Amino acid sequence: MFRFFNTLSRQIEEFVPLEDGRVKMYICGPTVWNFAHIGNFRTFVFGDILRRYLRFKGYELTHVMNLTDIDDRIINEAASRNISIDEFTEPYTRYFLEDFDALGNERPEIMPRATHHIPEMIDIISRLLDSGHAYESDGSIYYRITSFPDYGKLSKIRFEGNIAGGSDRIDTDKYDKEDARDFALWKLVGESEEPGWDAPFGRGRPGWHIECSAMAMRYLGETFDIHAGGQDLQFPHHENEIAQSEGATGRPFAKYWIHSEFLKIDDVTMSKSKGNFFTFRDLTAQGHSPLAIRYLLLSVPYRKQLNFTFEGLQGAGATVERLRNFRSLVHEAVGVGDERESVESVMTALRRFSDAMDDDLNTAAALAAVHDLVREVNIVMSQRSLSEVEREAVIDALDKFESVLGIFGRADKILLDDEIEALIEERQKARAARDFARSDEIRDELAAKGVVLEDTKDGVRWKHK
Ligand code: AMP
Ligand code: ZN
Repeated sequence: MFRFFNTLSRQIEEFVPLEDGRVKMYICGPTVWNFAHIGNFRTFVFGDILRRYLRFKGYELTHVMNLTDIDDRIINEAASRNISIDEFTEPYTRYFLEDFDALGNERPEIMPRATHHIPEMIDIISRLLDSGHAYESDGSIYYRITSFPDYGKLSKIRFEGNIAGGSDRIDTDKYDKEDARDFALWKLVGESEEPGWDAPFGRGRPGWHIECSAMAMRYLGETFDIHAGGQDLQFPHHENEIAQSEGATGRPFAKYWIHSEFLKIDDVTMSKSKGNFFTFRDLTAQGHSPLAIRYLLLSVPYRKQLNFTFEGLQGAGATVERLRNFRSLVHEAVGVGDERESVESVMTALRRFSDAMDDDLNTAAALAAVHDLVREVNIVMSQRSLSEVEREAVIDALDKFESVLGIFGRADKILLDDEIEALIEERQKARAARDFARSDEIRDELAAKGVVLEDTKDGVRWKHK
């Protein structure tokens, strides 16, 4: 039974999809105005683990992750460079997806862009205007929070008085509103040079929150199963999404809301505005592997804060190496005899693994089950050969773990350290014998398996890509 913490009820609930066997899920995606930092990627790796575990449980999944390609920052940056917003966001979208893929995340089924869904946003805003949930002021359109008595049901914030300044992203709109809590659905652009779209209520551009309501309902329907995102999105973003969507349809929006905790650094939340961040590229440029970064990000359960340290990242790198070496040792083993001891270990490990993941996606306990299996099988292998049935059981378990965690990486990249050293030595001999064809061949073979060589004055050094 898969259970997780539903922010809406503040309780651990059993997951029961609206439709048998099918899950519809929306996870807020990035704003493509800069390189994403590894704090952002903690949230996206969490989303990937949730995605993979739903599939592990046998559900068919439609997972939507939007790309926010219009907001004030994007407009300002594009204007200061004198380029269109499309020209500005294109490379950042590409970099984001490159990093997202390199971190071993599976691509969601649907990745809509905000700017391609303006008609859907206009439609919701029109409905909100018709039903009195929205009003016009100075040409812009605002959501009338007093019209939605359930406002606050997600974040449990009590909204007496003025809450301006309660969040980084609240109340930065410099427009006139009936109530300080009201938020912009559509910002008037008029005839100015700013990017804008024509709408029955005037040329303008959407507010941030309406984007997600429109894209979620476009692809998943008015009511769907899971909506997730980082902790900071709970309020005001997700609270406003609920108000807009339920205000427009009169139906519940998402059944389950899941929020993942922050990545911190020196106990301060990693963020662009504080400047205390590392991008994925900063870390890989220092030689840290994408798998190590992924391992670190998922090693702490999603509802606990994670403090980033380089020691932690190095430790994650060593752990991933050990796991990969273990996997290749088992793959290369030749089954002998008919012992079954490790088959028992595998069954226990698989049960512990799925119990841990069923329990609010407890990745730390799931990893402990993986490591315990590795330890037990290593002990067996130090004493005798695995039998074929044991070997197959272990390989099958590793494949199952990998389908959820994605921490072992591609199998064809694996070479044991000894094998790498032996190939390097052979290459040195080929070079000494001026057999450059062979030495190049070895370099290429290693490169194809993710090992890069560096010729230094002290000899050849190597590292995993
Ligand atoms: P943004 O591109 O700013 O819209 O953020 C993308 C995602 O990253 C959102 O789900 C945020 O909640 C999340 N996020 C931002 N900072 C952090 C952090 N330090 N740790 C974890 N998630 C974060
Ligand atoms: Zn969103």
